[in-house]
Amino acid sequence: MSVGRFAPSPTGTLHIGNLRTALAAWLFARAAGSRFLLRFEDLDDATARPEHEASQVRDLETLGLTWDGEVVRQSDRLDIYRDALADLERQGATYRCWCSRREIREAASAPHGELVGAAPGHYPGTCHDLTAAKVAEKEASGRPAALRIRADAAKVSITDRLHGVVTRTVDDFVLRRGDGTPAYNLVVVVDDADQGIEEVVRADDLLLSSPRHALLQDMLGLPRPAWAHVPLVLAPSGDRLAKRDGAVTLPERLDLGDAPERIVATFAHSLGLLRSAGPVKEITPEALISGFDVTKIDLEPWKLHPRQIDKSW
Ligand code: GLU
Repeated sequence: MSVGRFAPSPTGTLHIGNLRTALAAWLFARAAGSRFLLRFEDLDDATARPEHEASQVRDLETLGLTWDGEVVRQSDRLDIYRDALADLERQGATYRCWCSRREIREAASAPHGELVGAAPGHYPGTCHDLTAAKVAEKEASGRPAALRIRADAAKVSITDRLHGVVTRTVDDFVLRRGDGTPAYNLVVVVDDADQGIEEVVRADDLLLSSPRHALLQDMLGLPRPAWAHVPLVLAPSGDRLAKRDGAVTLPERLDLGDAPERIVATFAHSLGLLRSAGPVKEITPEALISGFDVTKIDLEPWKLHPRQIDKSW
């Protein structure tokens, strides 16, 4: 049996965009008869909180999005990330990096030199080939080093079920932060493989991260899952939906009088899943399973009108 998952970060209340993604991930899994797992990506000590986990669980349950087995927390699994890092280090596929965010920004925007990154946000390679003397100097500075992958500007293609083939030049992204915390791009790959996830359904702001994950999967000898990146929900301005936009969390929608089934129907309409069903006002996730058709999913972001945000749908 195949396995899908939803992997929120317990750093706040889920907003309706996250919940719509959860519904999509749940439908992909349930329509295929797959198991569906819930994993909390809680490695960010500064913002991850048990009370956010509790509110996220409550919201998923309220909408009728069920999962199988125990909830998994990344903070309980530090050993398996350490093993994966050790494997990459043994392969000589990593190097230490002492750059601060500011130094990376400045190097990436420098007018000349091969250090200029291939794309916005790309690491420009500053610490890639440090001489032994430079390394000694950096070590003596006492600044903690992050660990990066030697991606060698590999061009990696993945196939997404909604977006087709996506190709990206992968930069030397961080595997372990300076404070010792394993980074998202590593742990997501280790967890998905360890949990047997065969289909990753998540928001399309992570579409360009998937070639990074594919590179790591290949290097660690792990199977690549299938990917489906669903569109985000955007504020009227076109920016990401945020608290300031109005009633964007489930408790706020419930307070406005929206029943959970009405919210699910609104999500399903916005995803393009109820096109031939007429004016369905309320529906359960369960009732969407039999008619679920990946090819119907609307790839445009769902832009919320202020009227929709502030009033009952
Ligand atoms: N934890 C990530 C988030 O909440 C999702 C990561 C993933 O699905 O791979 O945005």
